[in-house]
Formats: sequence, structure tokens, C-alpha cells
Amino acid sequence: MRFYDPLRRPQDGCEPASGEERMTSAIESGLLPGTSETRPEGLAVGGVLLTELARRFGTPLFVYDEEHLRRRCRDAVAAFGRDNVAYASKAFLCTAMARLAHEEGLLLDVASGGELRVALHAGVPADRIVLHGNNKDAAELRTAMSARVRHVVVDSFDEMDRIERLHAEEHLPPARIQLRVAPGVAAGAHEAIRTGGNDSKFGFGLAGGTAAAAVRRAAGSPAMILEGVHAHVGSQVLDTAELAAGAAAVARFAADTRMDRLTVGGGLGVAYEAGQTPPSFAEWAARVRTAVRDAGWGSSVTVEPGRSIAARAGLTLYRVGTIKRIEGVRTYIGVDGGMSDNLRPALYGSRYEVFLPRSPRAPRPMRARLVGKHCESGDVIVDDAALPADVAVDDLLATPVTGAYGYAMASNYNKLPRPAVVFVRDGRARIVVRRETEEDLLRLDVDEPAGFPEPTRTVGTGAGAAQRAGTA
Ligand SMILES: *Cc1c(COP(=O)(O)O)cnc(C)c1O
Repeated sequence: MRFYDPLRRPQDGCEPASGEERMTSAIESGLLPGTSETRPEGLAVGGVLLTELARRFGTPLFVYDEEHLRRRCRDAVAAFGRDNVAYASKAFLCTAMARLAHEEGLLLDVASGGELRVALHAGVPADRIVLHGNNKDAAELRTAMSARVRHVVVDSFDEMDRIERLHAEEHLPPARIQLRVAPGVAAGAHEAIRTGGNDSKFGFGLAGGTAAAAVRRAAGSPAMILEGVHAHVGSQVLDTAELAAGAAAVARFAADTRMDRLTVGGGLGVAYEAGQTPPSFAEWAARVRTAVRDAGWGSSVTVEPGRSIAARAGLTLYRVGTIKRIEGVRTYIGVDGGMSDNLRPALYGSRYEVFLPRSPRAPRPMRARLVGKHCESGDVIVDDAALPADVAVDDLLATPVTGAYGYAMASNYNKLPRPAVVFVRDGRARIVVRRETEEDLLRLDVDEPAGFPEPTRTVGTGAGAAQRAGTA
């Protein structure tokens, strides 16, 4: 399998932007959230200056344009129809985001017990939630079946065993299900996010009759109500023909097996660099509709966009701490975050742009490598950043299009507290996820003042051990 090779840039399915395109200012780039505007003091989003947000909430900071998020949700619903759009919450999830997607009429796609917990906590009704995952455990299935989620996307025969056991032994209601199918069509910007091929951990293969066997097994089971089939071929796909090809393959199978419902996943790509033009929801819908109709599917289609809802709505603010000019080599600009808040460059070789919020209309003739503060050379945010020439220590920088798979993949590497997340709208900012504190970093540590158990005692047993662990 071919994974990220740093020498094989670019990724994200696009050629790097040309020198001319990289001269574009932030405002011209088409990468900023929809309500962005230039003021004399700098760039404002949702009616709030980014410099003001950094002052109030600190950096690094994730800023989401709430109006942009809502507009993307509405556009998706307009393109595919109500009840036919599920927000893929793994792209970015918190209580406020779950509520927003629900308020805008989207279903919520969750892929773990944790995501399900957040969705239910946010007050999203279970019949608006669908559960995914290639290895759901009994606890996750138990919660989903007891709550009666809209449907479970079943991924394996072992999962069917677990559902049947829960139904038979714990008398849980039968699960409404769709079957995840691997259509033999993979798409996407990087091997790690190409999911629909035959050699995939996801789903029942159409090849070799596995999917057909899964349909027979589910249809004959009292524990499952089989309503449809599902496929998701990959992510950051900029050519809707690839998405349509995956949809057509699974549509043919859905028509042949007389299913009621068809879900064709997410995957629509977004622009990360100046000069890129991603397809709209309307284009995606038109392409998919034609493809599934030609494949014999006469009914509606459900999609699960994640990135294309959340990516451009969000940006990250960093503070510059160091500027290191290495004569004849390159310039390094070090900021106060890094791979712990944006793993995508390290994971997929993804490329980003960077702008100075104080001068969003400035041309960007300077070249530098924007790096984080983690203890490895791979901690790169923008490998070959284009910046205004006067960037200085203590400047605020913004990397746009970090709203999807940014905070969602954040970690505490090097014990960095994870950033705060704010939503801005109509001149007001509200914290939706607070910044972690150093106290938070110690929250899970079990402090044993007595030190390690003495060598003569068996580890983990006896009243002493239980007492130390706080369970006695
Ligand atoms: C990740 C995922 C999505 C969303 O993908 P995007 O590329 O973010 O739109 C949708 N459906 C499933 C099953 C997924 O795993």
C-alpha cells in the first residue's frame, strides 16, 4: 500500500498553485469563510476582527463562521432534499455543531460511541442519527439499538452476530440497518482516505458475492430490518465523475436487490489553495442523480458530506514566535501550534495557504516554511508558505480551510493543551469548546503518592491497591 511520501507532493488531488495564484491576497483567494470582510484594522469574520478574537481568546484558536456553516447545510439540503443529507460529524463535532446541523435539517452521521454520545447530549433525536464504523463493539450497538437510531450501517458478519446477540439476549428492538458495500471503486486525494476499493477494511465486497450474501443474511434475521445499502468511496474528491462512478456501482446493486434506500457517502472535495475550484453541492447532486438513474435506481439518494460542510467555514489563528532565516536554504516561521491542531500535512502531505489578518489584501511575495512547536521536523503546517514580506514576530497568522479534520484530529502531543473553538456571527463570538488547561492535561493521570507497588505485592489486587485506585 502506498502511504504518504513527503517527496511525492502535492496531495489533495491538485497541482500546487502557480506563483501568480499565490500572490493573491486573502480576500481574493476564495478560501475564506463567506462573511469575511476587509476593514481598515484587518480581516473580520462574522462581524468580528480576527485580531480581536485572538486578543480575547488567545491562540492557537479555531474560528468558525456560523453563517457559512448554516449556508453550507442549507445548500446541501437544497441540492439533495430534506432527510437526504447526513452531516459526517467526524469532520468536526462538538455540542454546538451537532445542534447546528440538526437545526438546519441534516441527519447526523456518527462513527463511534463517543460521537453518538455527543449527538445525543446535544439533543439530536435518535431517529435523526445514523451509526457507522467498521468495528462497532457491543456497547456502541447496545446504545444505538436501545436509543433506536435511524439506522445502523452494518459493516461485517461479526457485527451481525453482535446485533443478533443483543436482540436475542437483551431483548433490544431489532435494528434498522443499511449494509456498507465496497463497490470496487476507490476515489480520493490520498491512499489513507480512499475507502471504496476491493482491498478495503470497509464494507461487504460487491466482488465475489459477499454483499449479496450479507443481504440474504440480514433479510432472514429477526434482529435486523434491512432497508438499504451504503457506500463511501473516499474523501477530498474534486472530480464528481469519481463520486458518480461509486454511486452507480452501488445503485445497480441496490436496484437488483430491491432496496428501499441508497446512501452514497460523502467525499466532495474543497479548495485548500488559491486557484482551486471545487464542485458545488448542486453539481455533485446532478452528477450523482444521473449516474444512479442510469444504473436503474429510481428513488432518492442520501449523501453524507463532512469536509464540504465544515472545512471552509473554519480557520486557525496562530501567533508567530520565531523567524529563522537560514542563508541559502530557507526561512522558518515558528508558531504556537502545529501538528497537534492540524495533523493533515503530516498525515496526507496536505497543503494550506496562510494569511496575515492585519493586512488581508497584501500581496504575498515572501516564501517560508510555517512550522509548529513540536519536537520533530515533520511538524509542518505549510511547507512552502507565501506571505507578505513584512511578517514579524508577534504577528497573528491565519490558515484558512481548517474547519474539517483539524480540531477533530487534535491531540495533546508534547502535552500541548488543545485550542479553543469559537463560533462568530453577527458581530458576536461565543466559545463552543473551551481551551484545555494544564490542569486538564493532568485530569486522567492516576497519582500514586506511595510510588510503585512494592515488588513482593501482586500488582492491582488487595485492599491497598483498590484504595489507592480510589475504588475501595
Ligand atoms: C468520512 C465519511 C464521510 C464524510 O466524508 P467527507 O469527505 O468529509 O465528506 C461520509 N460517510 C462516511 C461513511 C465516512 O466515513
